[in-house]
Amino acid sequence: MNASAPELPAPIGLLAELTHRCQLRCPYCSNPLELDKRSGELDTATWRRVLSEAAALGVLHVHLSGGEPTIRTDIVEIIAHCARTGLYSNLITSGVGGALEKLNALADAGLDHVQLSFQAVDKANAERIGGFVNAQAQKMAFAGRVTALGLPLTLNAVIHRGNIDEVDRFIDLAVALGARRLEVAHTQYYGWASMNRAALMPTKADVDRSIQIVETARKALEGRLLIDLVVPDYYATYPKACVGGWGRRLINVTPSGRVLPCHAAETIQGLEFWSVRDRTLADIWTSSPAFMAYRGTDWMLEPCRSCDRKERDWGGCRCQALALTGDASATDPVCVYSPYHARIKTLAAAEASVNAKSTYVYRSFSLGDRPASAGSPAGDVS
Ligand code: SF4
Ligand code: SF4
Repeated sequence: MNASAPELPAPIGLLAELTHRCQLRCPYCSNPLELDKRSGELDTATWRRVLSEAAALGVLHVHLSGGEPTIRTDIVEIIAHCARTGLYSNLITSGVGGALEKLNALADAGLDHVQLSFQAVDKANAERIGGFVNAQAQKMAFAGRVTALGLPLTLNAVIHRGNIDEVDRFIDLAVALGARRLEVAHTQYYGWASMNRAALMPTKADVDRSIQIVETARKALEGRLLIDLVVPDYYATYPKACVGGWGRRLINVTPSGRVLPCHAAETIQGLEFWSVRDRTLADIWTSSPAFMAYRGTDWMLEPCRSCDRKERDWGGCRCQALALTGDASATDPVCVYSPYHARIKTLAAAEASVNAKSTYVYRSFSLGDRPASAGSPAGDVS
């Protein structure tokens, strides 16, 4: 830990990416472009050890994610181990494939919460965005079973140009399905979303309209539905405290066991990521070069170094700084004080224009080998 942040807090959350396999092929998927194959995934015993180490380290919440985590044949055992070790388990799922068949067993094993993604409310649009036929009926059935089992349900809607006209319908859907929470999360441009940015970027006017719809609904539905809103970085004035600050609150374990400060951190060339195959989670949290690289404030350059917001947003997102300026140590260009700020506003406006590219490169284990217009009932499950 550096001199400007003398006390290292315990991480609060563990993002456990159990697999990169997924039936859907969303063009905004936050997974890396180079996906981990099934043959490289951690086995059940290693995940059990990682979860026990996380609990000992002080982690409170485990977000079981992917890919689609219910593809794992050991998902019930993994959730049971969360319950045994006192970890609050949140299943982040698309609700398709075998998810419904496993749900009763997952609840019996002690699952605490379900976060279910919808690509759109309109069925045809959902299938086009997710690149998967007949997902919507499976998602509806899955949501019904979640609430019937008494599990708290959050709906997740990633918003972009292809579904921004459906924000009011997402809210109606969340109410109809008995969700307690709805995440209206504008796309963050990492991973596959970065590759598809010109096809996903909404206009500023549409973003403003979506925010207004959410604010009106929040008042009307107070006490019934909590609506979280993640605004799009490219239209913001200041950056978010990405993952609560680098190496401060979150640990991300990839399907093959690499441990990251955030899910996009591997885009930063030269960082050394340690693996749970070789070291304990506590060792990695305290001493991994990747976690140390941007923890605290000593690494900051100007204007962050002398800014009074530096312990609020921790300089924003390192991966975005790299992607947009070529320097991971630079001020996140979302920030109005960044010399690149005006440039990203111009870029967003250009990509959101009616003439911008509108076909998707779908998420795939083999980048670019599938036609952008094709839906597939099988998806990437290999
Ligand atoms: S492809 Fe879609 S459903 Fe699958 S992990 Fe990515 S965002 Fe989630
Ligand atoms: S200059 Fe740096 S610390 Fe200050 S608001 Fe911008 S990103 Fe945050």
